Amino acid sequence: MRCLLNSFKPNVMAMKISDDDAWQAVEKRSKAHDGQFFTGVLTTGIYCRPSCAARHPKRQNVRFFESCEAAQAFGLRPCKRCRPDSITRDHAAIMKVIAIINTADSVPALQFLAEQTGYSPSHLQRLFKRETGLSPAAYARARRSQNAQDMLAKSKYVTDAIYDSGYGAPSRFYSENKGRLGMKPSIWKNGGAGAHIYWTIADTNLGPMLVAASDQGVCRLSFGENEDALHARFPKAILSEGDKEFAALVKRVIDAVEQPGEAHHIPLDVQGTAFQEAIWKQLRLIPPGETRSYAELAAAVGCPKAYRAAGSANGANNIAVLIPCHRVVASDGGLGGYAYGLEIKQKLLDAERKA
Ligand SMILES: [Zn+2]
Repeated sequence: MRCLLNSFKPNVMAMKISDDDAWQAVEKRSKAHDGQFFTGVLTTGIYCRPSCAARHPKRQNVRFFESCEAAQAFGLRPCKRCRPDSITRDHAAIMKVIAIINTADSVPALQFLAEQTGYSPSHLQRLFKRETGLSPAAYARARRSQNAQDMLAKSKYVTDAIYDSGYGAPSRFYSENKGRLGMKPSIWKNGGAGAHIYWTIADTNLGPMLVAASDQGVCRLSFGENEDALHARFPKAILSEGDKEFAALVKRVIDAVEQPGEAHHIPLDVQGTAFQEAIWKQLRLIPPGETRSYAELAAAVGCPKAYRAAGSANGANNIAVLIPCHRVVASDGGLGGYAYGLEIKQKLLDAERKA
């Protein structure tokens, strides 16, 4: 996904923006425009971020600048309230970190990144997370994994793809991606070939529920689906009706579905792009009883403009309820959509609100 990985560009890469658009951004105190331009107020002699909380100046007293330097050269001083200079320094630091990560052979240490930017490790970590939705280390891992996934789609040999995306050895790729992917890449590339998936259809208070799991964790949870649907999703996997051990997992899953809670104790086997996984992770952070819009979800992973992609990632979720995509509703407060019908969605939300 663009904004998270390949071309995340902090706002300081100033796009040209018209004066009218700039003024609109100022009127809305748009944080998204911070760093894209600076608002100089000729009467007070200061310059601000577009989002500055101070009272708005009159339009005729405002002049826009591309950079702090340009505003200073004009004789203006930085506003003490919104500290416009720090944002460019922050963005420059983030850009530098991203450039280092993108060209590094291995995941750079936080301490090293901090030294390169002149920030303390903890401050840099916070700042980077706020801007991108991921820590530098998570970004580096996601980036590397994304490279490998891109290569996997193109490469004939799995090991080539892994080496080409910067892993020292295949074992590093497997160990780093295990928690995320469950299936080994060679399996995953081939529609689940070699994977053994247990499944069953359980009766729940929401109707018949399909539960399927690999030896890594639950890989499909859906309502009103049968074995054929599971087979279509994992065409080359070996599907077996669940055994005793599986029955214990299914019981935990049913409990988690019928008695709303965090359900974080149930292992999941999911694989998606780094962006999808960031969205799924974010979904699991929405507390039961609360809801979010796609726009809020997109903003939470650092890609405020990617709300449509957030919607698609939500729809690509394989595991209903445990990755609670039902907690995403329309921005006007309406129920929005749901893959298994609005009645089930409404029941889930009602039960969580009451809990
Ligand atoms: Zn200000």
